[in-house]
Amino acid sequence: MSNQFQSIFDNQKKNSLILRTESIDRRRDRLKSLRSWILNNKNRIQQALLSDLKKSATDTDISEIFTVTTEINDALAHMHQWARPRRVSPGMTYLGTTAKIQPEPKGVCLIIAPWNFPFNLIGSPLASCLAAGNTAILKPSEHTPATSKLIREMVEETFEPNEVTVVEGSVPETTALLELPFDHIFFTGSTNVGKIVMGAAAKNLSSVTLELGGKSPVIIDHTANVDDAAKKIVWGRFTNNGQTCIAPDYIFISEQAKEKFVASAKKYVKQLFDSKNQGMADSDDYSRLINTNHTKRLVEILEEAKSSGAKVEFGGDYNAEEKFIEPTLLSNINESNRIWKEEIFGPVMPMKVYSDIQEVIEHINNNDKPLSLYLFSRSRKMKKLITRSTSSGSMAINDVVVQYAHPNLPFGGVNHSGIGKSHGQFGFLEFSNQKSMLHQRIGLTNALLFYPPFNGFKKWVVSILIKWF
Ligand code: NAD
Repeated sequence: MSNQFQSIFDNQKKNSLILRTESIDRRRDRLKSLRSWILNNKNRIQQALLSDLKKSATDTDISEIFTVTTEINDALAHMHQWARPRRVSPGMTYLGTTAKIQPEPKGVCLIIAPWNFPFNLIGSPLASCLAAGNTAILKPSEHTPATSKLIREMVEETFEPNEVTVVEGSVPETTALLELPFDHIFFTGSTNVGKIVMGAAAKNLSSVTLELGGKSPVIIDHTANVDDAAKKIVWGRFTNNGQTCIAPDYIFISEQAKEKFVASAKKYVKQLFDSKNQGMADSDDYSRLINTNHTKRLVEILEEAKSSGAKVEFGGDYNAEEKFIEPTLLSNINESNRIWKEEIFGPVMPMKVYSDIQEVIEHINNNDKPLSLYLFSRSRKMKKLITRSTSSGSMAINDVVVQYAHPNLPFGGVNHSGIGKSHGQFGFLEFSNQKSMLHQRIGLTNALLFYPPFNGFKKWVVSILIKWF
């Protein structure tokens, strides 16, 4: 296995040196080929996602295909500008020189993806990676075998192996890949595996982007439009069966808002996910958990919460063998329970009533920095307070999840929820080295002053520099 991976890597390494000299238009050609394959094979992508996650065709169009095609289109529209060297001022001390920042390809990149948006989370970083002029080895998730196989076919039908190659497999394959001296590793997955990836990258000093997980809190205060909040939270939490990294994970709600929130959320669960009255277990609009192991873990944490006194506000039914758990809202949570400590990543949502917002802020700040934080409020004071007193990868006020797809916002976490940013120009920069370029005139250097011997005049000039520059 290691020899085979080494040979793929060596081929890409050789090619990456050629790619750094080619025109931006060649990069554009690659992105256009990728886009054409996707548009010509929408049906195959929909089938793969139906098989792996029981995702409806429209859901796949929105969350797996559109997310990748917009990333490609954005790069096609702007990559000439993103790749252009940017001149910077010489200031007083570098007069006579010219200086610019030249983005250059990093080289050979590894992209490792999770199973929850298995096509999108390979396709979107691949678009940024190719736009920046790199080669890529892709490692899709072993838990979505149909999508993994399709990604391999897509790559084989679109690229040369020295441009892009797919390695399918699980931990042993990923571990072997991580021994190679990649120029950049882009990992999306859990925080624990993120630490393993960063540890392996450190051995080769490969740069990393880590798009990780964690618990994303929601705060609903007494000034919020509770019905609006309920609709948005229900969609954000239960779409993809709660298996979304930036899904609202748990709720802090003010006492005044609680009753109305529960009633509205119950109404919207039905309206959004079982509008045809098929029953949630048979609804076409409600997808499935990834596998029985993941379902059993969720059932365990649900049962633990219930036996510690949690109240089931709605939902609560499950069938682990069918990978099914009803959209479930719990209140009266015991803080020592796993549901309050671990990333849930499923359709079960705990809620706690707060009386003092400072306790909420303290809870957030005493735990790992969230990937996203959501606030529902009309109060300017509250918006300012939460924005300033907490840290998270992203924050949305009066909405959830939608910040992910904003064309001009970076996406990523902070510390335990991630390192580095993706999407649009931020993704392009992540896969580029910002090379500093200084052009000096022959026979001149502004460092002459710093050459010894240090006479009185030089000492005087240095003292002026220290004082005024
Ligand atoms: P995971 O970390 O278990 O797996 C991700 C990838 O790492 C897979 O390709 C897997 O094969 C590989 N892997 C697993 N264990 C490994 C090991 N010991 N050594 C080397 N490689 C290993 O994550 P998952 O269960 O596939 O996905 C769910 C997690 O991903 C959640 O925590 C979720 O929040 C996170 N996520 C984050 C984002 C984001 O953009 N921040 C997006 C989607 C999912």
